[in-house]
Amino acid sequence: MKKRILLYYKYVNVPVPHEIQGWQQELCSSLGLTGRILLATEGINGTVCGSLHATDAYIQAMNSHELFGGIDFKDSIVNGQHDYFHKLQIQVKPEIVHLGIAPEALTPDNGGQHLTPEQAHQLMEKKPEDLVILDGRNYYEARVGTFKDAITPPVNHFRDFPEYIDNNIEQFKDKEVLMFCTGGIRCERASAYLSAKGVAKKVYQIEGGIHRYVEQFPDGFFRGKNYVFDARITVKVNDDIIGTCDLCATPCDEYTNCRNAKCNKHFISCASCVEKLGNTCSAACLELVNQGLVPERPYRPKIDATTTE
Ligand SMILES: [Zn+2]
Ligand SMILES: [Zn+2]
Repeated sequence: MKKRILLYYKYVNVPVPHEIQGWQQELCSSLGLTGRILLATEGINGTVCGSLHATDAYIQAMNSHELFGGIDFKDSIVNGQHDYFHKLQIQVKPEIVHLGIAPEALTPDNGGQHLTPEQAHQLMEKKPEDLVILDGRNYYEARVGTFKDAITPPVNHFRDFPEYIDNNIEQFKDKEVLMFCTGGIRCERASAYLSAKGVAKKVYQIEGGIHRYVEQFPDGFFRGKNYVFDARITVKVNDDIIGTCDLCATPCDEYTNCRNAKCNKHFISCASCVEKLGNTCSAACLELVNQGLVPERPYRPKIDATTTE
C-alpha cells in the first residue's frame, strides 16, 4: 500500500482561524491523516499524510471550501509501511511560517516575481552577471542540497532571515536575486522583505520551490538532497553528495540525532562514525549513554526515501 504526503500553503485572509482549526481537526481525523497544519489570519500551511484515497478526499474538501480553492498541492507518493508523522497537530499561530513580523506589516503581495521552474531554469542557464541565487532556508537544510552557486545564509531559524538580509544587504545591491525554498511558502514574505529594502534590481522566487523544480529538472541546477519536514528528513534528488560528516569531514549527507536524548543534536554522521560513536555526536555523549546517566533516544528505523514513485 502506498501513502501520499501533501505539502501546501495559501495566503488568504482567514477571519476566524479557530473555526477553521475545528473543521480541519474533524476533517483530518475522519480521513485518518497525520501531519501538521498551521493556521493564522494570513492563511494556511500544511503537510499531511494518508492513504491515496484519504488525501484525494482532503484535496477535494479543500477545493470546495470558500477560502481554500485553487491550492497547488505538492505531493510525494511514499512507501505505506512507515509513519511519516507521529500525530496530527493543528495549531493557530500569528503567522503560518514564523518570520517574526506581523502579517499586516509584511504581506506576500509585494513579494518577488514568481518564476515557473522552467523560467527559473532558463534564468540560471543564461546566468546573467548580476544574478544572485539565494537559498531562503536554514543552513542545515542547505548543507545537504541546494542550487549550484547559491548563497546559503548561516541561519538556524527562518525568523533570523530578516537580520541576515539587513546585515548582508550589500551583496544584493543592483542584483537580480533568485530566491527559493522547499515549497515556496517561505519565499513569499522573505522576498517581500528583501524587495522592500529597495536595493536589488529585481527579486524573483521559484514557484513551488525546490519540490516543483526538481520534479521537472531532477538533474538540473539543484544538486544533492531536498530536506523535508517529515520522517524521511531528506529526499534524494540526484547522486551528488554535497554535505560532509560533522565528525570526520568525509562527504556524507545522512542526518541523524544524537542517541543521548538530552543532547539530541541533529547532525550529519557517516556510517563509520555512527558505528564508532554508537550514534552519538561525541565521545562525551557516548560515555554518558554507556554509563546510563542519560535517557536514550528511541531507535527509529531509517526510512528509505527513494521509494517515491
Ligand atoms: Zn564520519
Ligand atoms: Zn550528543
